Amino acid sequence: MCGIIGYTGPRPVVTVLLDALSSLEYRGYDSAGIAVLDTSNVGVHVIKDNHKVVHLAREVESRHLPDGRTGIGHTRWATHGRPTALNAHPHSDCTGRLHVIHNGIVENFRELRELLTLRGHQFSSDTDTEVLPHLIEEFYDGNLTMAVRRAVASIEGVYALVAMSAIEPDRIVAARLSAPLVIGLGEEEMFAASDITALIPYTRSVALLGDGEIATLGPGTITVETLDGEPTEPRLVAVEWDAIQAQKNGYPHFLLKEIHEQPETLRNALRGRIADTGLVDLREIGISDELLAGIRDIVLVACGSAWYTAMVTRYALEHL
Ligand code: GLU
Repeated sequence: MCGIIGYTGPRPVVTVLLDALSSLEYRGYDSAGIAVLDTSNVGVHVIKDNHKVVHLAREVESRHLPDGRTGIGHTRWATHGRPTALNAHPHSDCTGRLHVIHNGIVENFRELRELLTLRGHQFSSDTDTEVLPHLIEEFYDGNLTMAVRRAVASIEGVYALVAMSAIEPDRIVAARLSAPLVIGLGEEEMFAASDITALIPYTRSVALLGDGEIATLGPGTITVETLDGEPTEPRLVAVEWDAIQAQKNGYPHFLLKEIHEQPETLRNALRGRIADTGLVDLREIGISDELLAGIRDIVLVACGSAWYTAMVTRYALEHL
């Protein structure tokens, strides 16, 4: 599962983003990236890398990124498009003003991409996610919340996302549907993150975003609304966990957590990959039917309990 962090406030944002991404590493990922709006509001700096967060941090350091007060960061678990720097998040619109990080799958991305391409949008990645900044661009008239609301209304699938705009410098907009996202509240600052682990060094005051809710965050301000634009009260909780307890999500140990997460993990793996006909659709892997039909041997490599899974899979494959 990927990691998401968004921040607006007085702290040096690059440090907040990189520290939060490191604390979310345990979720697993294949590439990472950040977008930072610099303090002089001159522009947004996007840095992406297909290695680990520490590599991204070195890249950021070597580029002498000017610090800022608003930014977003992401560790990606690729579902659509290979794990390359180009496919890493954040993704941007055609104007370079709008930037989005996303966890989940946009199931109708092919149709949307075709439609947006016909309308003149230029895509630079193979991801399903990239339709989001272009959709937001379509609806954007200076009000990021409204544009995000209209964009998510156009997509099918699941999402936790955070968006920012270069022309609304002290604002990030977060939205979720069937994917995790929590808001961290500070006095003059606000955070959005995939889980509480990333927030614990900064705040114990957390707002739980409901399914289909959109939060607009400014330094010390939060408003929440539904997909219909109806205002709703944020559900505030005080967190008493330490960082390790937060990683275990309330379970006494990691093994138990992973066992309980299996249904969700399976759902995530299958989502968007079963066509309406019931057939498996793995187009994004780019292997043709002819190539598949020509395969004579399959080698499964595994150790530990995955070895048992491989043995069961062998029987299943041979049977099929
Ligand atoms: N589907 C998106 C992608 O492949 C998001 C993956 C994620 O949740 O990290 O880029």
